[in-house]
Amino acid sequence: MDIQFIKGVGPKRAKKLNRLGIYSVEDLLRYYPKDYEDRSKFSLLKRSPIGEKVSLKIKIITGTRILRPRRNMSILKVPFEDSSGVGYLTFFNQEYLRSRFKVGEEYRIYGKLKRVGAEYQISNPTYEKRSSKNKTGRIIPKYGLTKGLSNNQVIKIIRTSLNDHIRELDESIPGYLIDKYGMMGIREAIKTVHFPKDFDSLTRARNRLKFEELFSLQLGLFMMKEINKSVDQGISFSNSENINGFIKELSFNLTGAQSRVVEEIEEDMNSLEEMNRLVQGDVGSGKTVVAAIAMYKSVTSGYQAAMLAPTEILAMQHFESLKELFSKFDIKCGILVGSLKAKEKEEILEKIKSGEIDIIIGTHAIIQEGIEFNKLGLAITDEQHRFGVKQRAILNKKGNNPDVLVMTATPIPRTLALILYGDLDISIIDELPPGRKEIETFAVGENMVDRANDFIRKQLLEGRQAYVVCPVIEESEISELNSVEDIYINLKEEVFQEFNVGLLHGKMKSDEKDKIMESFKEGLIDILVSTTVIEVGVDVPNSNIMCIYNSERFGLAQLHQLRGRVGRGEYQSYCILINYSSGKVARKRMQILEQSSDGFIISEKDLELRGPGEFFGTRQHGLPELKIANLFIDMKMLKMVQKEAIKIIEEDPGLNKKMHERIREKIEELFKEVNKDLILN
Ligand code: ADP
Ligand code: MG
Repeated sequence: MDIQFIKGVGPKRAKKLNRLGIYSVEDLLRYYPKDYEDRSKFSLLKRSPIGEKVSLKIKIITGTRILRPRRNMSILKVPFEDSSGVGYLTFFNQEYLRSRFKVGEEYRIYGKLKRVGAEYQISNPTYEKRSSKNKTGRIIPKYGLTKGLSNNQVIKIIRTSLNDHIRELDESIPGYLIDKYGMMGIREAIKTVHFPKDFDSLTRARNRLKFEELFSLQLGLFMMKEINKSVDQGISFSNSENINGFIKELSFNLTGAQSRVVEEIEEDMNSLEEMNRLVQGDVGSGKTVVAAIAMYKSVTSGYQAAMLAPTEILAMQHFESLKELFSKFDIKCGILVGSLKAKEKEEILEKIKSGEIDIIIGTHAIIQEGIEFNKLGLAITDEQHRFGVKQRAILNKKGNNPDVLVMTATPIPRTLALILYGDLDISIIDELPPGRKEIETFAVGENMVDRANDFIRKQLLEGRQAYVVCPVIEESEISELNSVEDIYINLKEEVFQEFNVGLLHGKMKSDEKDKIMESFKEGLIDILVSTTVIEVGVDVPNSNIMCIYNSERFGLAQLHQLRGRVGRGEYQSYCILINYSSGKVARKRMQILEQSSDGFIISEKDLELRGPGEFFGTRQHGLPELKIANLFIDMKMLKMVQKEAIKIIEEDPGLNKKMHERIREKIEELFKEVNKDLILN
């Protein structure tokens, strides 16, 4: 039912409710309070804390007065008593209230208690007759509001619709789970979340709603994964040349973890089902070669492969290393990026279409354009957390349902990965190639900058190169932080006059950036001062120092990524974190980096210390927004939900059983927004 037909709403209010994302009765019933105000406990005037909001039961006594401290200003003072003493209700410019409060009447009031001289006062309190119990004596929900809609109005609308429409809500969680976990039923939970009797039942209601939310999301993602596999016929690459021929030509042996992941990928590729796999591996764990093996398999089976990177520099680097890896084979690589000249682009596009190019490397942007493949069989994206469910779905629809492989260097705990990448199978490369030297990491305070510079100088004199990274700065904070330009000028003109210092930041054009990066790679620049644009994996084996200013401003996972830029060659490498905060948490966070080089541990600890932050938001990953659950805070519940969801998907992958009918409808509704044709046709 449209919201405007609900009692007490009408077209005008409906528009306002729409602004809050409320269109249907169900939206309204599920417009959960953001917060609650506890007005349930009454106290005695003289025992109530001054300066806080209190609930009192009072009786009006004689002596009401109006003061006029100034023209156009009046203060109505209504005296009252309770068994502990006497106080005043005060109202500004509301003389008309004088006749409302009659001597002897009893009220319940709620408001902030002040003491003015010897007087107890409560200005502009919420009040109601002793007999009613709407605004006081209970826990009051606080809703997100919009202009022209007050909290009281929302309360009224919701109360009415609970009365008239709660029976329209059906239980979506299968009965056996409700029983197993002793959960509240949906109708009771919805009533309670809006108007809780006490905080215990509120917690039970919220837990039930969180369960439901996480359950539908997780189950929906698992279901999507199943459907991708079964509905769309994928490609079987089984008639490829033996990949061992390729692996034998590598200059190193695969690590155990790489071999295992390659096996998982091969199995996917051999099967007729579409591959949708995420490869998670720390920086330097050797994801590129794993991707190359998959591409080799695709090409030798007669299909093209595409590799997408988030930036041009990274696409270029992949292009270089893949060209090298495939040089011994009759496999042709091509690159497609925005900076190509129109004519070059045309040529490449033609070759992709004709099938002359086997492997296409480009930026994510190329999937948006109408690029025509001859026979695309495998699409790999180097994810760098910018690629959501929806883009993956688009990719899936290119050509004849290519297999999809997503690479990410962002280590996240498995519980989170199952939801943020819930539509994918997951492989983990949890081992670094042998012989890697640990990067020595030092966290220092700002008083140590000079010593850090001396240390850098020593390395430069030995022929090494260094990165210096500063955070990106918003205009408003310029004075407090080190801007990349300031550091650059200081290092170039004062500290390191005898060396070549280069500057790289996000506002530069991409060809400028490429040029600088190229000079650094060639050793023409000794120190590269930059913002985090270098985060994405360009390899410069001769650089062995990563020095990060204002390190407290970065996420630990990000610092870990940055640190991974060094230690790529034969030299002992160092990471210097310059921390400008004296806070305890900042100190602790820096210590984690000093002590661990395992991306998974680092990100888990960071989560513990800082919470999930923006990166772990569902929106960021193109998933429906969570209204009540929180992926981090409710991690334990998420684990429980996952256990149940996995069981269900195994037994009933299409959710066709009668007992799963409701949850299936709910999931369809939930994902409608993400992509209409993503789930079920
Ligand atoms: P990332 O996972 O960060 O993308 P890369 O694929 O860039 O890592 O690999 C990092 C470096 O390690 C590359 O120079 C690559 O050639 C090398 N490498 C990859 N696998 C191995 C291995 N099994 N043994 C030795 N070196 C390896
Ligand atoms: Mg990489």
